[in-house]
Amino acid sequence: MLENDFLLTEEEAKLREEVKEFVATVDPELLRKMDKNEVDYPLDFIKACAEKKLLGLRFPEEYGGRGMPWTAETVALEEIGVLGMGIGCAYSMVSIVGEALYRFGNEWQKEEFLKPIIKGKKISAEGLTEPRGGSDFFGTTTKAEKRGDVWVLNGSKRFIAGGKVADFYIIYARTDPNAPSHKALTAFIVERDRGVEIEELYNLMGFRGMGTARIVFKDLEIPKEYVLGEVNNARVIFNRMMIPERLTSAAGSLGVRAALEVAMKYSEKRKAFGRKIRDFQGVNFMVAEALTKLDAARALVYNAAKAVDLYDQGKSTLDPRRLVSEAKLFATEMAWDVVNKAMQILGGIGYTQVYPVERMLRDLRLGLIWTGSNEIMKVLIQHEAYNLMGLPSKDRDYEKDAMDWYKEWEKVYE
Ligand SMILES: Cc1cc2nc3c(=O)[nH]c(=O)nc-3n(C[C@H](O)[C@H](O)[C@H](O)COP(=O)(O)OP(=O)(O)OC[C@H]3O[C@@H](n4cnc5c(N)ncnc54)[C@H](O)[C@@H]3O)c2cc1C
Repeated sequence: MLENDFLLTEEEAKLREEVKEFVATVDPELLRKMDKNEVDYPLDFIKACAEKKLLGLRFPEEYGGRGMPWTAETVALEEIGVLGMGIGCAYSMVSIVGEALYRFGNEWQKEEFLKPIIKGKKISAEGLTEPRGGSDFFGTTTKAEKRGDVWVLNGSKRFIAGGKVADFYIIYARTDPNAPSHKALTAFIVERDRGVEIEELYNLMGFRGMGTARIVFKDLEIPKEYVLGEVNNARVIFNRMMIPERLTSAAGSLGVRAALEVAMKYSEKRKAFGRKIRDFQGVNFMVAEALTKLDAARALVYNAAKAVDLYDQGKSTLDPRRLVSEAKLFATEMAWDVVNKAMQILGGIGYTQVYPVERMLRDLRLGLIWTGSNEIMKVLIQHEAYNLMGLPSKDRDYEKDAMDWYKEWEKVYE
């Protein structure tokens, strides 16, 4: 009831119903077990998605996808997002890692890795962040050295969702110690059973049940066939992967509507001072603000998704990066605000595990930090606006709309 489909095509609206029906069948016990860290990864959930052909919707049918646009995928992501961030991440990983494999992999790599993740037969993960830092991606210190036909990988990656169970990871490593960073990194497909060591499993505030780990490579030999894309040119893969990375974060955040629904339902029943709390303006205004922000975020996410679709189809020359960053920034901050409002409406019981809102709140805090922190989103947004968008526009000289516009002597800038 809190979603709306006015921007969607008929096909996308139908997809929402299909995913919604599927989500309704997911056993709540899985969510509870994940939050208790009793599972390492929602493997059965991923298999069930694959059976319904819900993974990698965007990829062509020949690889197991449905060849749908990004706009459709965001709808599915919102629906899956109501199940929490862990499940949302497991679902999104196919889209993120799949993007790298689909765009930069050769046919053998697509056969060996892309098809199996879409079919739910292999689990993938991505390793960008290092103990040294995540925001400064190009500062990567994990390195790979070419020895004959193999690359020897050394280093470690931190906070890798699915790190414990993944069959393979996309790992970025420095392959040219002398070149500038944007010409020095290479992406590798690294299978876990080649000897990747799991050295730390994190005790997380939320986002549990995903086997989030620090993974370590000690003289790991990677055959040259496992290089993804061009040697020393991983920059293009990284830039491309950031689209699904951030759009999935943004669209998944719309799943916060589950928390709002719980709070609204509660406010219709709970009484204080002899009245339903929904009758208090202090409460119903929170609902109004939450709904407005949720709808605004959904529209922005959809717009960003459309921008990517049109760019990819060659119908737009506008690089969608700014809109994607805005969508990630706005949707994750919206979700944090809305889940806090939901908890406030529930009062003290919201702070217990009687309702799922406290788990959702713990989960959603992560949205502001990962897939590029929200500070990094702001760095990108302002950079695009100042440096790449050709401002000021030539549409109209707005300064001349001022009464005293001609007083150039008053326009002092230094
Ligand atoms: C549960 C969890 C799961 C994760 N999953 C994955 C995963 O699967 N794969 C993966 O590769 N990574 C993953 N991450 C890592 C995540 O993407 C990073 O934590 C994030 O990018 C921030 O990096 P950092 O933690 O090293 O913080 P830092 O980069 O050290 O940043 C610390 C602070 O400084 C700010 N900052 C840094 N640079 C700037 C700047 N230029 N301008 C303004 N502020 C700045 C940041 O915004 C942040 O507030 C995960 C993290 C968590 C917690």
